[in-house]
Amino acid sequence: MTTAVKRVLIVGAGIGGLGASAALGQRGIQVDVIDIKAENAVLGVGLNQPANALRALRALGVFDEIAADGFAFDRRLHRDSQGNLRVEVPSLLGGDVPANIALRRSSLHRILTGAADRAGAKIIMNCSIADLSSDPDGVDVSFTDGRSDRYDLVVGFDGLRSRLRRRLFGDSFEPKFTGYSVWRLSCPRLATIDCINLYEGENGKAGLCPLDDEQMYLLHVTQEPGNPRYDPANFPQMLIDRMQGFGAEPGIVRDAITETTPIVYSPLEEVLVPTPWHRGRVAIAGDAAHASTPHLTQGAAMALEDAVVLAETLNRPVPVEDALTQWSARRMPRAQFVYERSRTRLLNEMVNDKQSNSASLAQINTDRMAEIDRFLNQPA
Ligand SMILES: Cc1cc2nc3c(=O)[nH]c(=O)nc-3n(C[C@H](O)[C@H](O)[C@H](O)COP(=O)(O)OP(=O)(O)OC[C@H]3O[C@@H](n4cnc5c(N)ncnc54)[C@H](O)[C@@H]3O)c2cc1C
Repeated sequence: MTTAVKRVLIVGAGIGGLGASAALGQRGIQVDVIDIKAENAVLGVGLNQPANALRALRALGVFDEIAADGFAFDRRLHRDSQGNLRVEVPSLLGGDVPANIALRRSSLHRILTGAADRAGAKIIMNCSIADLSSDPDGVDVSFTDGRSDRYDLVVGFDGLRSRLRRRLFGDSFEPKFTGYSVWRLSCPRLATIDCINLYEGENGKAGLCPLDDEQMYLLHVTQEPGNPRYDPANFPQMLIDRMQGFGAEPGIVRDAITETTPIVYSPLEEVLVPTPWHRGRVAIAGDAAHASTPHLTQGAAMALEDAVVLAETLNRPVPVEDALTQWSARRMPRAQFVYERSRTRLLNEMVNDKQSNSASLAQINTDRMAEIDRFLNQPA
């Protein structure tokens, strides 16, 4: 006997929602996934997928596609603003999979959409929830496109600004701005960039990460007090201004920015909802339940692990609500670990690392990353 979940509605066809659609569909569950966007496509630059994300992607049957598309690496280099090497930090993640594979966000989205399609999930765009009501046996849902339907379970992977979170938990758990933002762009890969390189600048940290043989992405984290709204037309000049002082590879990328360079500006926000992450037969997962700063590149990993563990847990012979309680209790320690360590890394990179000499920076970073890698290398 299983939890007898036969029909599931997933809200949000992002990384976690598509992953969950694939994981549940592969277990014979009928899945509808809705997304408020008009097109099944993503904006964005690139993503690093550390080994624990790769294990979740392997469980979904798409590891080979990810490996063929992305760029594998197993260390991180800390440099000063002029590119001089300060510290090399090896990644202890992996073993059965590479330590990291970075790839374009559009590639990850395409690969996950393929997995959801093959698992029989029905993806419905331009659609959201108008209303829902959960009873002990199921959930009645009416949609913004006028349809209505009934499901055994509804799971909201509807991202940082989740409406489902608000519906279940009120406004107690809204994302909080950290005081920092990140500027990102993709550009042709420089031959010297074959792993994540971080550069300490006067106004913040820059980073370069390979995405495949041809492309890499640049990030620059800056303090933006008060979370101001900027006109996107000004992003190129604003990024050029903020990156004054960088030499070496970040300087080369900065000098190639023109007024038409597409730049993604993201305020860094975080949220952590206490467990359980469900009310009745309606749950939230991924960024909706726990979003961290991107400093450990673990956001997609946490959403994908949520998806794979949910499918495993629903396969057990327990009532649905008990399964949901077990699922979020199992997921919380990892989500909380990533949330806390990501925040610490942000503060260290912005404040403390610059003040450390290279020997102590090496020691601190190697110790910190070893602790993080050991924890995240354990099963999800
Ligand atoms: C600057 C930055 C860099 C990052 N870098 C990395 C990285 O290198 N590696 C990594 O693993 N992670 C990274 N992340 C985090 C990662 O992008 C997220 O953690 C991940 O996308 C979470 O997946 P999700 O499915 O929960 O949400 P999302 O992928 O955000 O998907 C949410 C989906 O829900 C849809 N939606 C929203 N509201 C509704 C609604 N009302 N009805 C229907 N649909 C709705 C949206 O359209 C969207 O498709 C980064 C994040 C940021 C901000």
